[in-house]
Amino acid sequence: MKHTITAACAALLLGSMTTLANAETQVDDKSLADEKQSENWLGYGRTQSQQRYSPLEQINAGNVAKLGVDWSLELPNDRSLTGTPLIVDGVMYFNGSFNVVRAVDLRTHKVLWEYNPKSVDHAGDRATIMWDWNRGIAFWKGRVYLATVDGRLIAVDAKTGKEVWSVATIDPKNALFISGAPAVFRDKVIIGNGGTEWGPARGYVTAYDTATGKQMWRFYTVPGNPADGFEDETQAMAAKTWTGEWWKHGGGGTSWHGLTYDPEFNRIYIGTGNGSPWNQKMRSTGGGDNLFLCSIVALDANTGKYVWHYQTTPGETWDYNSNMDIVLADLTLAGKPVKALMHAPKNGFFYVIDRATGKLISAEKFAHADWAEKIDMATGRPVERKGARYEDGEELVWPGPFGSHNWPAMSYHPGTGLVYIPVIEMAGMFSDKYTKPKAWQSPSFKFDPGVDFLREDGPADWGTSFLRAWDPVTQKLRWEAPLPGVWNAGTLTTKGNLVIQGRADGVLAAYAADTGKVLWQKPLGLGISAPPVTYTVDGKQYLAQLVGWGGSMTATGGSIAAQHGWAYGAQPRRLVVFALDGQVVLPPLPAPAFAKPLNAPEFTVYPELAERGSHVWSQSCGMCHGPAGTAGGYAPDLRASTVLLDEKALHSVIFDGALRERGMPKFKSINKDDLEAVRHYIRREARKQNLAP
Ligand code: CA
Repeated sequence: MKHTITAACAALLLGSMTTLANAETQVDDKSLADEKQSENWLGYGRTQSQQRYSPLEQINAGNVAKLGVDWSLELPNDRSLTGTPLIVDGVMYFNGSFNVVRAVDLRTHKVLWEYNPKSVDHAGDRATIMWDWNRGIAFWKGRVYLATVDGRLIAVDAKTGKEVWSVATIDPKNALFISGAPAVFRDKVIIGNGGTEWGPARGYVTAYDTATGKQMWRFYTVPGNPADGFEDETQAMAAKTWTGEWWKHGGGGTSWHGLTYDPEFNRIYIGTGNGSPWNQKMRSTGGGDNLFLCSIVALDANTGKYVWHYQTTPGETWDYNSNMDIVLADLTLAGKPVKALMHAPKNGFFYVIDRATGKLISAEKFAHADWAEKIDMATGRPVERKGARYEDGEELVWPGPFGSHNWPAMSYHPGTGLVYIPVIEMAGMFSDKYTKPKAWQSPSFKFDPGVDFLREDGPADWGTSFLRAWDPVTQKLRWEAPLPGVWNAGTLTTKGNLVIQGRADGVLAAYAADTGKVLWQKPLGLGISAPPVTYTVDGKQYLAQLVGWGGSMTATGGSIAAQHGWAYGAQPRRLVVFALDGQVVLPPLPAPAFAKPLNAPEFTVYPELAERGSHVWSQSCGMCHGPAGTAGGYAPDLRASTVLLDEKALHSVIFDGALRERGMPKFKSINKDDLEAVRHYIRREARKQNLAP
């Protein structure tokens, strides 16, 4: 009798499970706002709040020590893996190098389809400003949305991997690119772009119809030339905060990251970028706040019309963009419930804003920042330190251009009430000695932010980093864990009292969310730059991690990035999936590899040529191959390359595009004399290394 009942129950249970497995999740406003749905990871920050908090707790602080590799997928054609994978009904969708998107069956571990938008071909020689990585994709009603480095926004059928539509979101004449994920809401898909450092850039975001790709609205983050007339009164209002002929240099304010949709107010919050150029002396010659640089701007999601803004860095001059993630949460402040918005931009202050009104609630330093003493709560404005604007040509300022927090995501745990931030502690030497503010001209497809940058390499210990658990209510540090290097990945937090983060040294680590105690660590053999995600398949919880060193620090960090030994092409790229009691042993991990600069005594270095080469280098080469030739792993280290010793081979790469297929573009902007100067510069730098102990 007992047996019969059990069998009947089992049959019933099995029936309902089958129904569940077959039910397709409609990815739309409802499911993307549902904090309780736990099996999937539907959006960039899991849900529209961008909290990156999972209600799953099968894997928890009590058993995480038993976490092991369940399966892995080799990704031999990838370099940088920085994206957040999405999980919809047992299928993972993720993007890798050059915007290739894959769908992987999480039961069979097989790649269902791969969509290659051929970004290298499309970018062509514009790839001189190209970045290999992208931070993610979006999913909406059966389609995957991706944005390419050359500026296309593309809809792909999630079942077949076939392209549905593709639109150009940038004018190819402009030195802009896309490295970010689109955001989706109310049958619209929105995307911005980056590129303030390569030419005159006027930032904007554009919303398109998810069904057809038709443009719905566009919002410019900085005003254009007054002679052309302003688009609306918001632009006229913003123009009052600019001086000089700012439009000649574009102004900047690009929205390359930080798009958060707020279903409760039907608004989209956009984080805006730094000035174009960084140096305000050149950009807005008589000063001014320069709206909407370095701001959070709230827009009506239907129309794209301005609602409110809060500017974190008025009159910015340090690359302190506000593109970092914007996280929504219900907080209780002074006994009252507040619909809050949390933001930890580059400038080192943690902001809590009432998102109904845009009013600043509190702002405190979460890292060492000396450009400003504090935020004056009466005005909401920073109280700047004298000298921080490098008025006399050179100044050491905390933080530097990498910021106290970059795009690696913070997460928020509604149970502990804490925000888990990957924090960078690193100063920058700001100097316009060489850029000559009065004579400066906007570059064209060359890196030139109006500040001396990328010519010199710093020491490997120039910066430090921490995982900080920050209380947004009290604006105080609750706990911190030291991290290796400076470039650590975004965080995930779960109901199982866990914070999980990949590190620059290739270790994936789990901490107790309430205390910061290290509970589990797994070396994965390569620097981790993507945030982990968690999901269930057939009721069992998994943790997934893309392993592939990427992001601006891996390109421009020099010795800071190179210290880990993640040399270009030396270590395998992978997707690694973990489960409790996972028993899989990963293939052996290659040892860290370090560049050995060639001395080449037969090469005579002419000091004047080397000096000239340093400027060519910072404008055209350093953005991928690193400051002073010290590559951080994103691209080959040219101090160790024999190609630079072979004039003919070098010419075929630079002028004929011999390595174009691999993403190394032709450089029309470099002439033979420039190239010769670069050879002298790199030999000079290579020999410095040889002389070092
Ligand atoms: Ca920037």
